[in-house]
Amino acid sequence: MKISFEPEKFYIVGNNLALDFINSELFELTRENLLSWAIAVNLIDTKKAEKLLSNWDESQLEEILSFRKNLREIVVDLANGKKLSSFGINLINKNLQQTNGYSKLVQTDEGFAKRFEIDLTEPNKILVPIAESMADLLCYGDLSFLRKCERDDCILHFYDTTKNHKRRWCSMAICGNRAKAAKFYQKKKAQL
Ligand SMILES: [Zn+2]
Repeated sequence: MKISFEPEKFYIVGNNLALDFINSELFELTRENLLSWAIAVNLIDTKKAEKLLSNWDESQLEEILSFRKNLREIVVDLANGKKLSSFGINLINKNLQQTNGYSKLVQTDEGFAKRFEIDLTEPNKILVPIAESMADLLCYGDLSFLRKCERDDCILHFYDTTKNHKRRWCSMAICGNRAKAAKFYQKKKAQL
């Protein structure tokens, strides 16, 4: 049976792996979806994903699902100006403790590069780079640039890296234009 991954269906708009991970909540957590997401964020390639799919056990996804839910609550709180709880710190630390991969020297056209090979023999190891990104955001980021898309019914979060830090939408194509169109429509309606 040919497996088809769908990395293009995920919205990679977060500018941070942890945010892109909670944004993947738009889709049910299945092995296929998780691997498609990992392809979308360049953690693995399709070939590796195909191999992992046959080795991964669906029952191992429970921990990832609960991590995604808890991480979302943490991000929502932070975006609303609340402090990170000790529960949140523990959750991130628990996943930072795992070892996950090794550096590898590879030859490139220009010379050499060091690449981090991620070990995903067990699905929950995917949480390590996600926890690392969340820790980076907390340590080095400016939390006032962590925001939810302004459209009420959109659940996507992003880290605003624009120059003037006035980004309002997950993406112009998804929500920005719709909001503009709605405003235009309301104005039109008011004129009638
Ligand atoms: Zn949006």
